[in-house]
Amino acid sequence: MTFQVTILGSGSAFPVMGSHPSSQLLTVGNEHFLIDCGEGTQYRLLEAHVRLGRLSSIFITHLHGDHYFGLFGLLNTLSLGGRTKDLYLFGPRGLGEILPEVFRQSGTQLTYPLHFQETDPDRPGPLWSTANVTVETLPLRHRVPCTGFLFRERKRLRSIQKDKLPDTIHYEHIRLLKEGQDVLDERGTLLYKNEDYTLPPPRPRAYAYCSDTLYWPELVPYIRGVDALYHEATFLTDLSELAEKTFHSTAWQAATIARDAGVGQLLIGHLSSRYPDPQPSLAEAQAIFPNTVMAVEGQVFDIANLPHTLVSDNK
Ligand SMILES: [Zn+2]
Ligand SMILES: [Zn+2]
Repeated sequence: MTFQVTILGSGSAFPVMGSHPSSQLLTVGNEHFLIDCGEGTQYRLLEAHVRLGRLSSIFITHLHGDHYFGLFGLLNTLSLGGRTKDLYLFGPRGLGEILPEVFRQSGTQLTYPLHFQETDPDRPGPLWSTANVTVETLPLRHRVPCTGFLFRERKRLRSIQKDKLPDTIHYEHIRLLKEGQDVLDERGTLLYKNEDYTLPPPRPRAYAYCSDTLYWPELVPYIRGVDALYHEATFLTDLSELAEKTFHSTAWQAATIARDAGVGQLLIGHLSSRYPDPQPSLAEAQAIFPNTVMAVEGQVFDIANLPHTLVSDNK
């Protein structure tokens, strides 16, 4: 099953030519999850050839504009497109008040049900689940309430080794084998021993998105062992005081979190506009956590297998 992250935008608050504010699209199987929605995200989705109508849920970390000012346009566009399907929106307290006010003042009437659920950094935990994933909020520390999001693939069924199955096997027995059971007849005699006909399912994958935040070691147990972590790295270490003052992290701190949590791969982004060259940030992080890459806009990261590989570049 596909498990891919498309980087739609990875800039920070101050606009820079050729760069876009935070937004990512996580694709798991046939499901699309939009994470943050900075200005222009709907155009970035079009450039990535994503049909907007296929979005079913949107996750907003916090209410700084570089993480959600694209939401008004996107929600309005879905209406213009005649959407009728439910849309699920998750974000901090306040978003549920801002949106109705914007819609009221602009005379916007949505053509679809929009379900809003509030997130709370002081109460991290299960938030949402779909056919393919479960989603949890992660506790972040920022100047305004902010949560990260952790997407875990659901445990999959065991794989059947088709060449070993007898042609006469009953469909119901295949189902039991996929679920990991041995198949017995009504007298309790073993018909099919599970391990003779199946292979273990692939390990469920996990992706954590953490932006924006102060260096926050308490985050580590929540993201331990995830396959990939996106963590903001707004500053270099020489500006660590500024990072602390503005509730952001340095590249060194992002890498320290990744190392301590034992993640598979670290993606960094949200670099301050004062750094036109990302190389020093990348080098600083790689010195602590070598498997660090820059979350470059337009890139698609396949989180299917370790080591994680870049599969395409839409830019
Ligand atoms: Zn930001
Ligand atoms: Zn922020």
